[in-house]
Amino acid sequence: MFTGFNLNYPEYEVITPQTKLSFNVRSINVQEEENLKGSLMTPTKITEHLNKCIFNAIVKKPETVKDFEAFLRILTLKDRDALLYGLFHITYEEIRNYEIRCGKCRKEYPVTIKASDTFNIKTYEEKGSILAKRVKVVLPKSEGVSAIIKQPSLFDETTALRELSQRPGSNTDIIIETLVIEKFEQDIPEQTEPKVYNERTDIIDAYMTLPAKDKREIHEQYMKNFGVFGIELKMKSYCAECGFEEVIDIDLVENFFRAIYQS
Ligand SMILES: [Zn+2]
Repeated sequence: MFTGFNLNYPEYEVITPQTKLSFNVRSINVQEEENLKGSLMTPTKITEHLNKCIFNAIVKKPETVKDFEAFLRILTLKDRDALLYGLFHITYEEIRNYEIRCGKCRKEYPVTIKASDTFNIKTYEEKGSILAKRVKVVLPKSEGVSAIIKQPSLFDETTALRELSQRPGSNTDIIIETLVIEKFEQDIPEQTEPKVYNERTDIIDAYMTLPAKDKREIHEQYMKNFGVFGIELKMKSYCAECGFEEVIDIDLVENFFRAIYQS
């Protein structure tokens, strides 16, 4: 009977960029890789399993993070990127055979790089919690309509995916995209109080009717006020064919799952 190797898995400390909490994550093992492979069915399942996988790989965490639900409530999507980076770095180190399509000659070529060479972090330094921050975006094209935007937590994401992905005609990308909108407010000339839409289904329906320019304004304001705080994986790359140099943004979630399938 196998009684265990008593392994000490390598650990890596991650400071979350938006909430500035300290976690130690360990590398994941074969069983955990297999659990994730089995989960790639729906975006809802992927998100749930990814959150669980990260939570289970945490060996040291702040006392406020008592359980899995507290973990989901206290951390943001950008914080998860940083934890996932830590997990990737300590488990795989390298991003292997990443296919880059040259921006000039359009030929594809593979590169392999150390994840740590691509890493950049920008921490949220404003006063107070980023989760409590709200920004009012006056929409340029929809007269009298404003969007109140925020930084969504992991809890917001899992709740919305669970509740809304069953809705007929639902679109996961839109569910995720609209998480930054807490509510819409519409000024009514005869009334002192604006009309408020704060149900997720109403927010999505309202979002779908917006002129494209208003959507862009919401996401630009989100990036400026919240989205810039996080990690970035960027690398400078030279085309093997024509020598064209460009800076590539690496998609971590995609590479995490690629690594799982390749190992
Ligand atoms: Zn090229």
